[in-house]
Amino acid sequence: MNLKTPFLSVITPVFNEQDNVAHCYKSYCEAFATCGEDIEFIFVDDGSKDDTYNSLLQLAQRDTRVKCIKLARNFGKEAAMTAGFDVCKGRFVTTLDVDLQDPPELVLQMIELAEKENWDVVYGVRQERQGETIWKKTSAFLFYKIMGKMSEIHIPSNTGDFRIMRAPVVEALRQFSETQRFMKGLFSWVGFRQTAFYYVRKPRYSGKSKYNYFRLWNFAMDGITSFSNIPLRFATYVGFLFALVAFFLALFYISKYFIFGDQIQGFLTLIVSILFIGGIQMMFLGIIGEYLGRIYIEAKHRPVYIVQERKNL
Ligand code: UDP
Ligand code: MG
Repeated sequence: MNLKTPFLSVITPVFNEQDNVAHCYKSYCEAFATCGEDIEFIFVDDGSKDDTYNSLLQLAQRDTRVKCIKLARNFGKEAAMTAGFDVCKGRFVTTLDVDLQDPPELVLQMIELAEKENWDVVYGVRQERQGETIWKKTSAFLFYKIMGKMSEIHIPSNTGDFRIMRAPVVEALRQFSETQRFMKGLFSWVGFRQTAFYYVRKPRYSGKSKYNYFRLWNFAMDGITSFSNIPLRFATYVGFLFALVAFFLALFYISKYFIFGDQIQGFLTLIVSILFIGGIQMMFLGIIGEYLGRIYIEAKHRPVYIVQERKNL
């Protein structure tokens, strides 16, 4: 086994991707041919139910540069990447998807840029997203906009997990103990010298995206709640505004009653406003609940992932 520090670690989270594994490995071999032995391919099987892990083991048998981690169940891509970060040794580290949406052949160009201009992180920015629906593109656009307004850290828009990092950045990422890790945010949060690299995101090589809208929604909630408490503050402002409106309305109706002797009517308005205020209150209770739930989960300090098996590590 290669004990010296490799030049590059390629981390690939894999979940039910038996049709992509072999092709992915082949593409890696081509893209990183110039690295020779000076590279490690870390595949993290995120609890696949199909033949993915066996395919990975076959690769690892033939090629000791291939290292495998099998997680005990599906922990999600963020946890799988974390498992990779925790064991990788490279002076540069990159995360790639097994579906080859982010082209491996760009990695060496990104490293070259980092070395030439002395960057610690070079993150891929999607100039164009092929094979993605209008709805996904719009929701992604909106998410980055809202996120940008809400959190203090700057998360570059149209940026996924595709990036190259120097070892100290990965070392910094290892220090996070939070279980609900919104990687895109953490990558920015750590700081260092970062720059963008524009590229075209390709459609999947095979299979379907593992993220349905429900999962993306939860992912967005994770992102917002872990990097911003503005939704909580929002409740204060809305409450303040409503109290102010109520105060002036009261003044208005009271003076109307005393000056013009108007009898106050309006059963309908009453019901509507009670329901309206009730709704707003419930909504903010829900938001508080979101944060509370997350505090509850974090307070348990459970491990981010559980490893079931390792190969070549
Ligand atoms: N993935 C994972 N665990 C999951 C979901 C996805 O390890 O629970 C992996 C998946 O195998 C792929 C990468 O994360 O290598 C990105 O997933 P996908 O292509 O489904 O996401 P998208 O490209 O649509 O954002
Ligand atoms: Mg994909």
